[in-house]
Amino acid sequence: MPEKKACSIEGCENETKRTVSLAKTEFALKKEGLKAIHKPKETKIRLCADHYKKIKKHIKEKEKLERARWR
Ligand SMILES: [Zn+2]
Repeated sequence: MPEKKACSIEGCENETKRTVSLAKTEFALKKEGLKAIHKPKETKIRLCADHYKKIKKHIKEKEKLERARWR
């Protein structure tokens, strides 16, 4: 069977919407209690629309905090 291009989140079978950098999203995955399944060499993971929305929320919050620090 060919490899399915589904969401990388453990237990999620939804269609992939976005591909994101693992380094950028790792902290957000932890906050959400999600586990991404990926090969050790992969630096990117695939997210479905639902998971992308959740992860993006954390990334935006983090960016806001980082910007606030420079004020
Ligand atoms: Zn998903």
